[in-house]
Amino acid sequence: MGKEQICSKCILDTTVPEITFDEEGVCNYCKINDEIMREYPAGVEGDRMLSELVSKMKKHGKGKKYDCVVGVSGGTDSTYTLYLMKKMGLRPLAVHFDNGWNSEIAVENIKNATEILGVDLYTLVADWEEFKDMQVAFLKSSTPDAEVPTDYAIISVLLKVAAKEKVKYIVEGQASRAEGTTPIGWTYHDGRYLRSVQRKYGSKKAKSFPVLSLFQLLYLFFVKRIKLVRPLEYTEYSKQMAREVNTKELKWKDPGGHHHESIFTKFFQSYYLPKKFNIDKRKRECSAKIRSGKMTRDEALKEVSAPYPVEDGIVDYVKSKLELSDEEFEKIMNAANKSFLDYPTYFPLIQLLRWPIKIACQLHIFPPIFYYKYGVDHSTKIKTYWKEFNDNRR
Ligand SMILES: [Zn+2]
Repeated sequence: MGKEQICSKCILDTTVPEITFDEEGVCNYCKINDEIMREYPAGVEGDRMLSELVSKMKKHGKGKKYDCVVGVSGGTDSTYTLYLMKKMGLRPLAVHFDNGWNSEIAVENIKNATEILGVDLYTLVADWEEFKDMQVAFLKSSTPDAEVPTDYAIISVLLKVAAKEKVKYIVEGQASRAEGTTPIGWTYHDGRYLRSVQRKYGSKKAKSFPVLSLFQLLYLFFVKRIKLVRPLEYTEYSKQMAREVNTKELKWKDPGGHHHESIFTKFFQSYYLPKKFNIDKRKRECSAKIRSGKMTRDEALKEVSAPYPVEDGIVDYVKSKLELSDEEFEKIMNAANKSFLDYPTYFPLIQLLRWPIKIACQLHIFPPIFYYKYGVDHSTKIKTYWKEFNDNRR
């Protein structure tokens, strides 16, 4: 492993494969954050931009049943996003992708929020055998991207529903001020990646849920003109505030840690990533809090110095639900780590198209973050990182 280093501003460190530091020791993700904050100001200017966005959504929604589609998981951010959209006078359609890993609290939260807000809910339930096959394939791929099947299926479902309902806006619940940007070496997903890993390690084809191709994506974004928007980015969003509002207004209950409304996510973040890849996603959220002044750097360092708490029995639960024997599971945990660069993906094409993508981001067809994240070629660093990581572990 190269020299260990930690950002002088946030707490991202050399466990991020592609991290770089400037002369002052500030990391590239702090720089990306500065760019994002320029794109999405909060305060008075943020309020103005948010109400402008909402007016546009209302205008495009005229004569249609819904103004926007909101993905809901039962977690903090998506529940609050639905609440905010409704409160701002929009007619959202809530969409939920059920991959078989919902916690009971999550199901209850979705039911309560949509009922109280009087919002229609569309749920797509994945065929469990198909979804399991895809998840196991990703575990066998030995990359830190085991949440790709969920992430990519969600965006595919949202786009399909938006196209069907002739809705132009897909509302995402991301908020950089509260959770930061996920480093690309920690999470990467695209449709080609998903299909290539499934072809290599899986045995089924997904029929019960959509996995959109690049051609379909381009059609929906550029011909159907569907846009991904992030209203929370224009606000001084904090998870604490959202939790309070959700609890008070929507009978919401806290599922626990970040995105722990899914049992697989809980296993993935607390056990699989830290143990196999030395990746601790709390560093990302803590770093975001430091940058937005909600936490001091010392508090953040203290928080991540204790190991990520692992819920009793969760590893056995995941093993048995995925029907993995102890031997198969150990094999997955001990396999040499890889990255998306070891599989066919659209990443080379995205790199080639970085300028058109930049323009699409400036036109806000895609959230500006796309450009900052994918417009840089990190491939050499990521490849070397895992090679050294595996050599050191041997
Ligand atoms: Zn930093």
